[in-house]
Amino acid sequence: MINEKVQNAINEQIKNELFSAYLYLSMSAYFEEKNLPGFAHWMRIQSQEEVEHAMKFFDFINDRGGKVTLFAIEQPKTAWKSALEAMKDAYAHEQLVTSMINNIYEIALTEKDYPAQVMLHWFIDEQVEEEKNASEIVEQLKLIEERGSAMLMLDRQLAQREED
Ligand code: MG
Repeated sequence: MINEKVQNAINEQIKNELFSAYLYLSMSAYFEEKNLPGFAHWMRIQSQEEVEHAMKFFDFINDRGGKVTLFAIEQPKTAWKSALEAMKDAYAHEQLVTSMINNIYEIALTEKDYPAQVMLHWFIDEQVEEEKNASEIVEQLKLIEERGSAMLMLDRQLAQREED
């Protein structure tokens, strides 16, 4: 059986991952509007990955004989001043998610829920990757200062992202 405190924290995190999916989908729509289809594509894949994260937690609770509870997802931001501002928001959001994952891990440690600890190792690794990816794009955007031809090149690069 899953520990109750761990279950509560994971149910909360299912919502947080789905909010992440919603936020990145909103960013994808923003980039479509700005005629940056590569950025839009990158964010759309990012959004799909967040749904997968939510489902990993969903399956974990069910596999352990627990009870999934879905909470309300708030509306994400719908407009940004620039691509840089949006990517900075994405990076800050991933840092926030990292702190959430670390917090659940703390609970799993305190409650001695070993299966939850093992499951969370995947998320701890994943957050290193998520922060790295978002921060790299932020740094590249700063470097090119959103100049036309450099933006088009970065947009083409982000268009290459494949689903995993
Ligand atoms: Mg996630």
